[in-house]
Amino acid sequence: MEIKICPRCGGRISWVEKRVVGGNTYFYAVHEWRENGRRKRRKCYLGPDVYTYVTMTHETDGLYLEGLVDRKRLIKYLENILARLQHLELEPKEKQEIAEKLRKTAEKLTKQVEEEQTEQERK
Ligand SMILES: [Zn+2]
Repeated sequence: MEIKICPRCGGRISWVEKRVVGGNTYFYAVHEWRENGRRKRRKCYLGPDVYTYVTMTHETDGLYLEGLVDRKRLIKYLENILARLQHLELEPKEKQEIAEKLRKTAEKLTKQVEEEQTEQERK
């Protein structure tokens, strides 16, 4: 995970700790520094799940998709990715690839909707 700045305190993050308690995942930013030769550690709570973590840091990575089961979150996540995609410096080939994937997905979704509507009309 390449998150460097803590969204809570603005400090440099040494690493991100993931804790799973009772099926819930919690993320903590760990700040470690040296003071008078002693190692000091402080933790900032980032959020109960990956999604909160992503929105706060604006970092996107396939990694964070893990554990995303909530539909609303998935849609918001997709919106974030789409917004971000337009600001990324991509090679023409990459742009084509992405455009192609989006087009195919859009086609599939449209087809699904049409099929579902036909199903509904039959009932
Ligand atoms: Zn912090």
